[in-house]
Amino acid sequence: MNKGSERQRAVFVDRDGVLNDLVYNPEDGQLSSPVSSRQLRVFPYVADAVKALKKLGFEVIVISNQPGVAKRQFTLAEHEKMNEKIRREIAKEGASFDAEYYCLHHPNALIKKYKVVCDCRKPKPGLLLMAAKERGLDLRASYFVGDALVDVKAGRAAGCRTIMVGHLTTFLTKMMEEEDATPDCMVPSLKDVPDLLRNLESRP
Ligand SMILES: [Mg+2]
Ligand SMILES: [Zn+2]
Repeated sequence: MNKGSERQRAVFVDRDGVLNDLVYNPEDGQLSSPVSSRQLRVFPYVADAVKALKKLGFEVIVISNQPGVAKRQFTLAEHEKMNEKIRREIAKEGASFDAEYYCLHHPNALIKKYKVVCDCRKPKPGLLLMAAKERGLDLRASYFVGDALVDVKAGRAAGCRTIMVGHLTTFLTKMMEEEDATPDCMVPSLKDVPDLLRNLESRP
């Protein structure tokens, strides 16, 4: 579908809440990222969605903030184990990511080497810019799929079109307006993204 002269395009995907479920913490009533591979549940539709997106001519690249190591919530080895679990689960159905980029930094990190105000922690677009540079991607023809406003902001700052997964609530609409982070499209889950892109691309 891409002409030879056109640069490669990507669908960037956030990890937690897009590829795998969030974890409910009864102590504070919040949904948060898993802290162990045992806790991590990959959504059942991820492999099919990744394969469908690649068929449409996109690279599929994971872009994720993972400050848990810096905050001593889990080790770097556990971080790797979580990513490996996702890779392994989708590989069972013949799917794989083209690349993965993680920001391990946090301004209040407990581990010194991660305590930096970096350019790669979303909402900053650093990871997207790095991926584009390393892989020769056309950001303006690429999409960022995330479940949070920081994803919309990072995608937009990089010049991508943005897709939010989830459900619109009055609160979320208000937040989008306040933070000036309204996505280009919203769909229930990553499962819906291939059809959405197929429709967008077929428009004259
Ligand atoms: Mg997320
Ligand atoms: Zn960073």
